Amino acid sequence: SRYFSIHDFPQGTPNRELFELHETELPALAEGEVRIRNTWLSVDPYMRGRMSGVKTYVDPFVIGEPLEGAAVGEVIESRDSRLAVGDKVRHMAGWRDIAQLPGDQVEPLPSIEVPEQAYLGVLGMPGMTAWTGLNRIAEMRDGDNVLVSAASGAVGSLAVQLAKARGGTVVGIAGAPEKLEWLESHGIKAVSYRDRDTRQLTEALTAACPEGFDVYYENVGGVCLEAALNTLRTGGRIAVCGMIAHYNAEESAPGPSNLAMLLIRRLRMQGFIIFDHWADYPRFLEEVGPRVARGEIDYTETVEEGLERTPDAFLALFEGANTGKMLVRL
Ligand code: NDP
Repeated sequence: SRYFSIHDFPQGTPNRELFELHETELPALAEGEVRIRNTWLSVDPYMRGRMSGVKTYVDPFVIGEPLEGAAVGEVIESRDSRLAVGDKVRHMAGWRDIAQLPGDQVEPLPSIEVPEQAYLGVLGMPGMTAWTGLNRIAEMRDGDNVLVSAASGAVGSLAVQLAKARGGTVVGIAGAPEKLEWLESHGIKAVSYRDRDTRQLTEALTAACPEGFDVYYENVGGVCLEAALNTLRTGGRIAVCGMIAHYNAEESAPGPSNLAMLLIRRLRMQGFIIFDHWADYPRFLEEVGPRVARGEIDYTETVEEGLERTPDAFLALFEGANTGKMLVRL
């Protein structure tokens, strides 16, 4: 088995040399264990937090030990009676080609007819996050005007489409021109945050949606949050899903300078961690799964080829190199 580890807890933006590829001989399977050939690996922004050496809502990665992350694969050997050779499964032993783990940490893929890697993206954790943030945290109502940052990413690309299907003006903030085009092709008004300060971004958002927003789906922080605070309507709701602009910061960033907008506009701002909501996953699959299977939802993907490219795929998330879910195909 080959796997990646990190040799340090990086400060600032990690570089490629942080990641080391190892090769190891796996022991024979113990009773209850399965061996899986991974076919798709997920890289996600939250992994940066696990590289900081401190416990947040999950434990930090262990230096020198295999990194972890969501993966999809096929069972190639089993000593768990519930799992048979050939079964397609999902688990958290990613960043490696062959995984070996107790069967109770492995989940058979749901039976909705979609490509298996969709269970790492649109019908996996990121999709579940988009649905939860919009419906459960921001309590989106039909016709709400919705603003989403990192709007063409794994979470954002579903959030904008779910919001769009329920009326109202939907505006997505993204970086690169091709992402803005992708958003516009789905009827989403697209605004770039690049080369814009808070005032300029506020103006661009106001031009896109003069009545203001009822909901802000926050993935980025910084200038995006400040501009969003300026453009929310009275009684607006902010679901704080992520703040990727801060994940590589070496110093703590100053808070939004206009937080008083919370008071002036009677806004509600609530953070959430998707693991707390996992009991709702079947409900999400039931609602969104068939729409994905029918092709009503466009789950674009950005794919890197080969285990060796996993760190590159991860690092590219912070450069905005992905449209939709960033994946590694083995
Ligand atoms: P994405 O697919 O959205 O990839 C990250 C994107 O973020 C990039 O493509 C880039 O798009 C944007 N980005 C990166 N750096 C910056 C920056 N400095 N300023 C502005 N934008 C930046 O990732 P996910 O969909 O997986 O995650 C999106 C957010 O949701 C993250 O903040 C993540 O931490 C959070 N999250 C939270 C969960 C929870 O439980 N609360 C669960 C899952 C995700 P662009 O080109 O537009 O800049």
